Amino acid sequence: MSTLPKYPKIRCSRCGDCCMVPVVPVTHKDVARLIKHTGLPASALVRFCPSSEMAYDDDSGLWIKFKSIRRAMVLRKRRDGRCIFQTPEKACSAYEARPQTCRTFPYNVDFDGKKITEITLNEVMKCNAVKCSKGSIDIDAVIANVKKEYREDNSYHKSVKQWNSSNGRGTVKDFLKFIGL
Ligand code: SF4
Ligand code: SF4
Repeated sequence: MSTLPKYPKIRCSRCGDCCMVPVVPVTHKDVARLIKHTGLPASALVRFCPSSEMAYDDDSGLWIKFKSIRRAMVLRKRRDGRCIFQTPEKACSAYEARPQTCRTFPYNVDFDGKKITEITLNEVMKCNAVKCSKGSIDIDAVIANVKKEYREDNSYHKSVKQWNSSNGRGTVKDFLKFIGL
């Protein structure tokens, strides 16, 4: 791998906040892996949230048209705000099949073509990781996951665009079927 730009080296404090605070957008691929891993139907894994809960741009590719409203497909939470997969010990019960965005948090990786130009910390929420000289997060694995995330996001956004342009009057059930779930 080519030389990486300087990036913040951190050690996760395992506070569990990133599995509680943010709303986690997912793609058809994320959900398909979770279905396979948990045996649960898509309807038990995802919900469709309004823009009041998630500050993504109109052109983020996440907004799905349902008649006069728009929603984004996100992981379900418990009543107390925790992700449905967060255990009382603040671990992830679906770790092997966790969504791509969970695999790359708290890093943001920017590319210029194939070259990595910047690696920063995500600003979606405050991460309680501790700065340290070596870092405990495998940055090569993060980069590989970011690349996979980009590919899967692009494919999902194309499907959403297609749904919105020709098919946006269906139900949530119709949408899940449309994206192969
Ligand atoms: S799927 Fe796992 S890693 Fe992702 S938010 Fe839920 S508990 Fe956290
Ligand atoms: S990545 Fe950050 S927010 Fe998530 S558990 Fe680690 S320290 Fe907490």
